[in-house]
Amino acid sequence: RAKAAGGNRYELADADSDARAIARHSLTNCLPAALDNGEFFIEYQPLVRLSDGTVRGAEALVRWLHPAHGVLGPDQFIPLAESTGLIVPLGRWVLEEAARQARSWKSAGQYEGPLRVNVNLSPSQLRYPGLVADTVAVLDDAGLDPTALCLEVTENALIGADEDELRPLRELADLGVDIALDDFGTGYSNLSYLRRLPVSTLKLDRSFTRGMQRAPADPVDVKIVEGIVSLAHTLDLSVTVEGVETGTQADHLRLLGCDTAQGWYYARPGPPERLHTLSLADASSS
Ligand code: C2E
Ligand code: MG
Ligand code: MG
Ligand code: MG
Repeated sequence: RAKAAGGNRYELADADSDARAIARHSLTNCLPAALDNGEFFIEYQPLVRLSDGTVRGAEALVRWLHPAHGVLGPDQFIPLAESTGLIVPLGRWVLEEAARQARSWKSAGQYEGPLRVNVNLSPSQLRYPGLVADTVAVLDDAGLDPTALCLEVTENALIGADEDELRPLRELADLGVDIALDDFGTGYSNLSYLRRLPVSTLKLDRSFTRGMQRAPADPVDVKIVEGIVSLAHTLDLSVTVEGVETGTQADHLRLLGCDTAQGWYYARPGPPERLHTLSLADASSS
């Protein structure tokens, strides 16, 4: 009996992975049309300065409103877009949208300082030879200053990159674009490579934020964050923390010297208009 049950479980798991493969295949097939049909949209999640709680910008996070499956998150389709090459036109669309949006926040003019927009770049976009030209063209068309854009690249995408592979990012950084190392702390352990990268921001992965949930915070995580912040500041890098879900976490991370925070405690990703509301609330409370 046990054996039969085991056999059944095996078949179930098998059927399950077949179903997933079929779903993946059909999603992949409808990706190109989805871009033409305007099925993608962007949510923005505010980036908040920890020292005074003001909104400094927002990260653009893409979603797919699939006609049959509803809203799909990036984890469900970015890997597919990446493996089929569609990530290049999709990524350019995200950049265009986000740049236009950042320009309109700027025109609205209710903010004390410049609002920045963060856009994620995947590894194939980094290897795409038109990256610098496209980015410059998009910024020009939107009338957006390069300093109002931050491109987020994961630590894993840059591991092992040689000088030639880093050149496009360096060119963008020289133009004034901020480059952030996303999901920092989950990849390579040798920190000396940081000196070679044209990055100006470290985005500390959510896994570190989790240790800050209680008071007192997890002492090992505290030491690690302290070390990273001190190294980052020594190298003139700013530190953004991801996944801040509670006020306790925000307090710990502010005391540890982190510069900027992002997470559900401040706001979930949402429509671009919401950023106006949040920033106006800031302005009237300060
Ligand atoms: P990421 O760049 O690390 O983005 C942060 C993710 O954490 C987002 O997930 C966000 O919704 C989620 N998050 C934010 N605050 C909290 C919090 O307090 N708690 C928890 N548990 N989660 C939080 P999302 O939107 O599902 O995006 C997942 C990943 O997809 C992103 O990770 C990014 O790597 C990728 N991605 C999103 N948009 C794009 C895009 O336009 N292009 C590319 N290449 N990748 C994208
Ligand atoms: Mg990101
Ligand atoms: Mg991240
Ligand atoms: Mg992350």
